Amino acid sequence: MRIDHDDCGASRPDIVVIQDRTSPPVFRSPFSPAHPREQHAGGRLTIDLAALAANWRKLNEIAVHAQCAAAIKGDGYGIGLERVGDALWKAGCGTFFVALPDEGMRLREVLPGATIYVLNGLFRGAEADMREAKLIPVLGSPEEIEDWGRYARSLDRELPAALHIDTGMNRLGLTYEQAEAVSGLEMVEGIAPKLILSHLACADTPDHPLNARQLERFEQARDLFPEVPASLANSAGILNDPAYHFDLVRPGIALYGGAARTDTANPMAPVVTLEARVLQVRDVPAGDSVGYGAVESVGRPSRVAIVSVGYADGLLRAAGSRDGKPGAFGWIAGHKLSYVGRVSMDLIALDVTDVPERIMHRGAWVELMGSHVGVDDLARAAGTIGYEFLTDLSRRYARRYVGLDLA
Ligand SMILES: *Cc1c(COP(=O)(O)O)cnc(C)c1O
Repeated sequence: MRIDHDDCGASRPDIVVIQDRTSPPVFRSPFSPAHPREQHAGGRLTIDLAALAANWRKLNEIAVHAQCAAAIKGDGYGIGLERVGDALWKAGCGTFFVALPDEGMRLREVLPGATIYVLNGLFRGAEADMREAKLIPVLGSPEEIEDWGRYARSLDRELPAALHIDTGMNRLGLTYEQAEAVSGLEMVEGIAPKLILSHLACADTPDHPLNARQLERFEQARDLFPEVPASLANSAGILNDPAYHFDLVRPGIALYGGAARTDTANPMAPVVTLEARVLQVRDVPAGDSVGYGAVESVGRPSRVAIVSVGYADGLLRAAGSRDGKPGAFGWIAGHKLSYVGRVSMDLIALDVTDVPERIMHRGAWVELMGSHVGVDDLARAAGTIGYEFLTDLSRRYARRYVGLDLA
């Protein structure tokens, strides 16, 4: 098998030729050996790879005229970079975006034939490793372009790159003037551009005026590189309007079941279920407080389940009750369970007064995130976004991957 990324940027619309779709199955067990066994863990994650694949197919259909890639930075949004890459590859995805060279090298181990872009660009000193792992840097500054070009010339060959154009995010990317200068040099010698991309700052709010402004600026920048495929849309951009699709789309959060837009119902299937172990169920007299700081007292004689997860598991402390505001809720067998008091490092408390004892007892498992407690519901209770909850998913949880044939 030979992979040559110098050839992998065929012209629009098929952008990338996938050389090798015959890699052997990598994962033979639904349980992750990198994480504790369920009987030793306070929480367990069930990750539905079939739902992940279905979400990718749905986005691929929505962006019917574009190629659908996948953003799997942040350890595959907390779900497991290698597992996510393997599952999406099997679903038909051939192009991946990671943030870091290290993530790209890990992904390369399991996907020898994939096209892998590194969004955070070129790190000084990483050039040889990037090339060896056939990672394509997304170059976002003149210095990075200079370094990658110099490295390519030192090898006396062309190396592939994507160009990041800033259209209003003011984070990474070339200004229009810098892009113009680069295009005027017929690209910097030694660099073969495979993609130009930009990133939307407000796609989750479709009415925000910055969206239209970024679209217009991106179209102008694209005119500088008429031969190079273009990519603008993240998840929200895909769901907003086909005008954002261009040649390749880069969904992240929607693949993992999170809400991309704030204004409509979430059409994606949940991928992650987090359940936590009940350690004990105790009676709390009316008027007594629960947990650190005595910030919340129960108003009636109550039963409280003490559950073995906490902020050291990424269950953010902000998800507990604070300043008189209610916290998040858990779920078991049709019962919604309010958090009582603060989230501790390794424990939370849930009000289970109304749940029968045959359901709620030591050793029961309560859902803290999943199809009954959406990742975005949980995030909203903590004043944050689903992305943060997913990428904080703990290494202390047991993990089980289901939904793909693992044989
Ligand atoms: C993270 C990221 C994406 C994916 O964004 P989502 O909002 O998760 O869909 C796409 N493009 C870039 C440049 C990113 O950094």
